[in-house]
Amino acid sequence: MRWLRRIFGRPAPAVIPDVLWGACVSDLPFLRQLPQADLARLKRLSEELLDTKTFTGAAGLELTDDIAVHIAAQACLPVLNLTLDLYGDMAGIIVYPAEFIIPQTEVDEAGVVHEWHAPVSGEALDAGGAVVLSWEDVADAGVPGYNVVIHEFVHKIDMRDGSANGCPPFLAAYHKEIDARAWQRTFSDAYRDFCVRIDALERRLSARFDPDDETGTVHYDEAFASLPLDPYAARHPAEFFAVASEAFFVLPQPLAQDYPDIFRLLSLYYRQDPLQRHSRQGLAHPPV
Ligand SMILES: [Zn+2]
Repeated sequence: MRWLRRIFGRPAPAVIPDVLWGACVSDLPFLRQLPQADLARLKRLSEELLDTKTFTGAAGLELTDDIAVHIAAQACLPVLNLTLDLYGDMAGIIVYPAEFIIPQTEVDEAGVVHEWHAPVSGEALDAGGAVVLSWEDVADAGVPGYNVVIHEFVHKIDMRDGSANGCPPFLAAYHKEIDARAWQRTFSDAYRDFCVRIDALERRLSARFDPDDETGTVHYDEAFASLPLDPYAARHPAEFFAVASEAFFVLPQPLAQDYPDIFRLLSLYYRQDPLQRHSRQGLAHPPV
C-alpha cells in the first residue's frame, strides 16, 4: 500500500493519512457518530489490521488504499473495545469487484442435501481461512441496516472458538458479566421468534400476492422492510447473530425495540452502545 514507508527493507508501521481517514469516516454515518477518542482508537486498530493482514484484490480488482481503509475501519468496529486477537486466525482479506460465485449446501427437513452455486456479497471461511468481500456491496450498502464487512467479520469472531454457531467466545478480560447459558437461551428464543415471524409473513403474503408478479414483489419488499432484521437472519443461528450484529452497529433502533434482550447482550459483548451514540446526535431513541 502506498502509505507504507520502508526502512532498511522492512515496512514501517502503517499510518493512514488523515485525509484518507477523514474521507472514510465521513462516508460511513455509523462511524461519524463515534466520539473522537473512539475514532482515534479505531484508526490505530485499523492500522494494526492493515499491518498484520494481507489485503488482496481478486478478479482484476485494483486494491487501492481507499478500499483497504474502508474495509479495515468497518472490520475493526466490532472489536473496538475488545481485541484484534479475535481475528488472530484469519488468513487475510480478499476483495472481488462485485458478487462472486461459491458452492452452497443446505440440508432440508427430510435430510436431503441440496448443493448449488450462487453469487454472494461476502464469505467468511472457517478453520483460519480468509474473509472474502464484494467491493460493490461494501461500497453501496443500499439496504438500511445492511453491512457486509461487519457481517463477515462477526462470523470470524463467532468462529474463533470453533465453527460458527451464533455463540462467540467469551473472553475472561471483557465478558465476566455474560452468562453463557443465558446467552444461548436468549438467542435461541429470539431466533425462534424471528423464524415464526418470517413464516407467518410469508404465509400471509403468499395468500394475497404472487411473488413472481412485479407488484407482488413490491408488497413483499415493503412487508419485510417492517422487520427489525434482514430475513436472512432466519437461515441459521450463526446468521441471526451476524445479521443482529450488523443491525446493532448500523441501524440499532428497530433491533432494540423488538429484541431488547438481544440488544443488551450485544452491548455487553461488544462493550459499546450505538443507541447512545444515536441519541447524542438527536436521533430517535426508543425505550430499551
Ligand atoms: Zn453470513
